[in-house]
Amino acid sequence: MTTKRKHMLLAAAFATAAFIPCARAAAPLAKTPAPGYARITLGDFEITPLSDGTADLPMDQLLQQKAEATRAALQKNFLALPLETSTNAFLINTGARLVLVDTGSGAYFGPTLGKLAANLKAAGYQPEQVDEVYITHLHPDHVGGLASNGRRVFPNAIVRAARADSEYWLSQANAGQAAADKKGFFQPAMQSLAPYVQAGKFKAIERDGELVPGIRAMAAAGHTPGHTVYLVQSRGKKLLLIGDLVHVAQVQIDNPEVTIGFDSDARAAFASRKQFFDGAAREGELVAGAHLQFPGLGHLVEQGKGYRWVPVNYTQPR
Ligand SMILES: [Zn+2]
Repeated sequence: MTTKRKHMLLAAAFATAAFIPCARAAAPLAKTPAPGYARITLGDFEITPLSDGTADLPMDQLLQQKAEATRAALQKNFLALPLETSTNAFLINTGARLVLVDTGSGAYFGPTLGKLAANLKAAGYQPEQVDEVYITHLHPDHVGGLASNGRRVFPNAIVRAARADSEYWLSQANAGQAAADKKGFFQPAMQSLAPYVQAGKFKAIERDGELVPGIRAMAAAGHTPGHTVYLVQSRGKKLLLIGDLVHVAQVQIDNPEVTIGFDSDARAAFASRKQFFDGAAREGELVAGAHLQFPGLGHLVEQGKGYRWVPVNYTQPR
């Protein structure tokens, strides 16, 4: 081999080494969240759980039991404090109507939340397509995504929430009298609902009953005065959207008596949890929770004094 040819081979080898990373050359960590939506079918309906993100919450201080008991339950489940807690919303396509249940936090909390609109788009829908928005209760992590800079995020939607909640949270008098730890809930509720109220697009739910074919509102008061759950039914399949009947699955499903500091009326919140958990377990209804680990879907099975949580299997539309 000539010297010139050797040099050419050597140059080619270096060029290859420079441009094709070898196995040891590390790719940067992506550090972006995995896609924040899931998809299941329920009879003729399509359900799209949407993630609003997560928040780290000091559940040992918020849950109304000894901090040590919460710490132990979380540890047993390989979870740490503060607990990274999901916030989920659920989009229901009935074939005739597109209904969103809850809207996440919008801009009210830090950068780990407020991702609902982006995930709605990632799931193949635009906010303009949403016909109805049903709110489980008017806490900021459920209504915060309704408006952005005072404008409606869902310009073509009618917004529904129980009258007991809208009367309570939209009242300046109640805001003035509220305990210090609950005062901060009022302004986000007022700001988020205002553009819909002004446009004549807010319609309070007066009583239990069907809102559109296949979706029924049912009062489940306690967490807030008008906390509402929604039962979705298609061709004999049932999905119960339970909102904030539970915040920490690893504690409150085993032991539904444990309440949380955010409850307006802790005794009533426990009674509602028990009533709807009993019904869902008896009927074998699929359950969807706003703060159960995303996608927040599973079944409740009676066990001892409480229940056991069985997350859904992963499925693809077919
Ligand atoms: Zn919540």
